[in-house]
Amino acid sequence: MSMQKKLSGIIPKYKRFPRGYEFKNFEGQPEENLTQTGTPARVTIPLRQGFGNEVAPIVKSGQKVAAGQIIGRDDESVSNPVHSSVNGKVVEIEKIDYLGRETGAVVIESDGTGDWQMLEGHSSKWEDLSAEKIGELIYLSGAGSAGTAGIPTRFNSSVIVPEEVENVIIQGVGSQVHNLSLNVLLRGEGLSHFIEGLKILKKMMAGAQFHLALNRSQKSLIKSVSQLLPTDDSINFFTVPGKYPVERDEVLTPLLLEAGFPYGYCTANVGVIVLDIQAVLHVYEAVVEGKPLIERTIALCGPGFMEKPHVKARIGSSLEHVIKGEVNADKNLRFVLNSSLTGESLSDSSLPIDRTFTTIIALLEENEREFLFFVRPGFRKDSYSRTCLSILFRKNSRMFQKSCGTNIHGERRPCIFCTFCEEVCPVGIIPHLLFHYVEKDVIDETLLKYKIFNCVECNLCSYVCPSKIPVAQRIKEGKAKLLDEGCKCPVPSVVLKGVEKYKSVK
Ligand code: SF4
Ligand code: SF4
Repeated sequence: MSMQKKLSGIIPKYKRFPRGYEFKNFEGQPEENLTQTGTPARVTIPLRQGFGNEVAPIVKSGQKVAAGQIIGRDDESVSNPVHSSVNGKVVEIEKIDYLGRETGAVVIESDGTGDWQMLEGHSSKWEDLSAEKIGELIYLSGAGSAGTAGIPTRFNSSVIVPEEVENVIIQGVGSQVHNLSLNVLLRGEGLSHFIEGLKILKKMMAGAQFHLALNRSQKSLIKSVSQLLPTDDSINFFTVPGKYPVERDEVLTPLLLEAGFPYGYCTANVGVIVLDIQAVLHVYEAVVEGKPLIERTIALCGPGFMEKPHVKARIGSSLEHVIKGEVNADKNLRFVLNSSLTGESLSDSSLPIDRTFTTIIALLEENEREFLFFVRPGFRKDSYSRTCLSILFRKNSRMFQKSCGTNIHGERRPCIFCTFCEEVCPVGIIPHLLFHYVEKDVIDETLLKYKIFNCVECNLCSYVCPSKIPVAQRIKEGKAKLLDEGCKCPVPSVVLKGVEKYKSVK
């Protein structure tokens, strides 16, 4: 019997995605438990978190603050407020080097108490709240900074207003090597809170069509969700294969909506908002419980962690505070944020966590290349070309899980035109062709003809390349050289919304 027939409730529609790559059976998957990291003694709150511009601090050094109190806000520019995540005293307002850019930050010493200040006007009877009030609560909570384009409200939290939203996509696809577990987020009352959060967003963006996409491997979750979704066709329910990088806006939006993507712009510019499951839970917490966005659930993954729990941590906690007691101290590790393929390296343990943290991955720091890689059997190595012996083991083999480190397993060799990079490229461009042009320093309209600006820098072409060529890196360099020469990403042929506001986001 097909999965669809077995389900009662809404029947999800399967969306085939022929490109991308499914990472199977890698070591270091997070356990399905959740621990609280406790209130930190000191937090550093970046004044830019998630979507939008950096905001100005509205507190001074020496001032007492409460957890949940807004400490940075700018209603004029496209931005979202930031909050103190602890009760305590501001000790410093400084500039920090944060995830590759200089950012203002408020340093707060905590008094050790764990309670927080609620948002005014929240209600468990959210149906009685107006769409405007819901928008205000989402904005004031900071939840409006979710996703790559924010959640539209009347307060410049995104580049468009709620009435301009045509489609809202909620995704729980998880196609990375390591993913946060939706079972942890949605256990207990989590699932009903998520469904309520969806309905709250629907009330606020009443003119939009809603779409929910889950990874097809999450069978029991799909079944539970299908039974709780409204049966009035107000939400389209999809399942998709967990092939990296299907959750990217540029990939998921065209896949579900069967429409083009405005490369060079964000989804909101074509009236589409894409959010993940945790963002919807933040919306529920803001509107129903009056809870500002002061905590994040983060999965600790990768072979460098011992127990690999999910942790609930206060925003602004240092990386050191969040991973304390969980790290395998015998190993030389590299910490990476959110993605093994594209994530920012977290080299400073004092770095604070913010609203964008979903996974912290501890990879084994190894030599970059392995001498005579090809004479080793590869029981624990992953290979797109299916040449490693790991292909013999089942998807969930505990004995021969694939290893996960920084070694790229081999020397760089000439391109053999195997077209693997072309097969997997999620946006359908020809990476090896672009790579050869950039390598030969052909920086002209040829690159535009082969749609270089459609590259979403997912690094999958480099990952699958048997010749160990940094294909994605070269393509990125090609884009930068074109921009240097004054060549811009072609403007999409569709009507765009909120372009000026989008350009104002730095
Ligand atoms: S060309 Fe760009 S989008 Fe395509 S696989 Fe490579 S990095 Fe990803
Ligand atoms: S995967 Fe590597 S070797 Fe194969 S065509 Fe692409 S660049 Fe060339």
